[in-house]
Amino acid sequence: MTASIVIVGAGFSGAVVARELAEAGIASSVIDARSHVAGNAHTERRDNGVMVHVYGPHIFHTADTRVWEYINRFGEMMPYNHRVKATSGGKVYSLPVNLHTINQFFGTTLSPAEAEKFIAERADSSIGTPESFEDQALKFVGKDLYEAFFKGYTQKQWGVSPTELPAAILARLPVRFSYEDSYFNHPYQAIPRDGYTPIVEAILDHPLIEVSLGRSVTPAELSDAEHIFWSGPIDQYFSGAFGDLGYRTLDFVETETMGDVQGCPVMNYCDVDVPYTRITEHKHFAPWESHEGSTIYTEYSRLASDGDIPYYPIRQVREKELLEKYVSAAQEATGVTFLGRLGTYRYLDMDVTIKEALEVADEFLSCRREMRPMTPFVAQPL
Ligand code: UDP
Repeated sequence: MTASIVIVGAGFSGAVVARELAEAGIASSVIDARSHVAGNAHTERRDNGVMVHVYGPHIFHTADTRVWEYINRFGEMMPYNHRVKATSGGKVYSLPVNLHTINQFFGTTLSPAEAEKFIAERADSSIGTPESFEDQALKFVGKDLYEAFFKGYTQKQWGVSPTELPAAILARLPVRFSYEDSYFNHPYQAIPRDGYTPIVEAILDHPLIEVSLGRSVTPAELSDAEHIFWSGPIDQYFSGAFGDLGYRTLDFVETETMGDVQGCPVMNYCDVDVPYTRITEHKHFAPWESHEGSTIYTEYSRLASDGDIPYYPIRQVREKELLEKYVSAAQEATGVTFLGRLGTYRYLDMDVTIKEALEVADEFLSCRREMRPMTPFVAQPL
């Protein structure tokens, strides 16, 4: 049996919409091609006891109180402060770029004010509004730090020169003139005690929600649905009519070993001649646990081809042009709402995904109450 509201994708987007509808008395079917819920946030405990972020590191961080309260309803969130180190040119540095990184890199003992002046002298002030990743980096930190920490990593992660990438990607990372080395600025930062999958299972655990896993669906098969919430790839909904949107995918080489391998959860490798981008030691995502064994992921990035799991939307010029066509088609389509990372083809963090899913559900419920058609959801570029 398939309910008349169908939600494609059992990640945070789909689960949150299903739950909001269920709490308003509306039944839905949630369908996912994979054998588990939670999408790329899926976690699994290995035989050595370590909780593994199966599709790579996921740290929950937000400034949005509604989102924070929402996720806390469905599982215990443990305080967790993400700290990342970087290896560059045979040395280990603090990240994101902060006063410690600057003093380590230049062999200085600068104060915050001195460092700010020092970096301003190195930064390229001729750049007005930075268009590309490279311009953004040169404007904010100058050539030396850009080349040491961003150029090689970004080349490996995205497979193209940082001159061809949008500035917004770098805007994800702060630059600080203090010794604060928390990777994120948000006031709420946490990782679920039992992993993300039980949280998403708890969101979906409602008598008005039916979940089918391991099932791929096409829009044609859902033609009886009153409304579809589509959190799969937007181009897939339209059978790739305008061409395929590109993604980067990741390969993880998993190693099981003993002890503490790197002493931190994530070590980035910024040099272009090191083939991987970062090494993740998963037990450090759960500092409240203790394990003798350790599970390590060595992470490689490449262009996704057919059958690969899509991770990062590429959003270069070609993709932006294609996306415009898909967005126009989506705005004209009726009975369907596109949401989430794949449904809107954006680089989304979990908190934004949840926030937007809550907003989409609010909108759907008010349209229903007021008996007006659902307005197409237009995602802002990120
Ligand atoms: N980045 C970089 N050097 C680093 C870490 C990140 O150049 O050591 C750049 C890179 O382009 C990356 C982007 O900053 O794609 C965002 O980094 P973040 O750590 O947010 O990536 P995620 O964890 O989402 O893969």
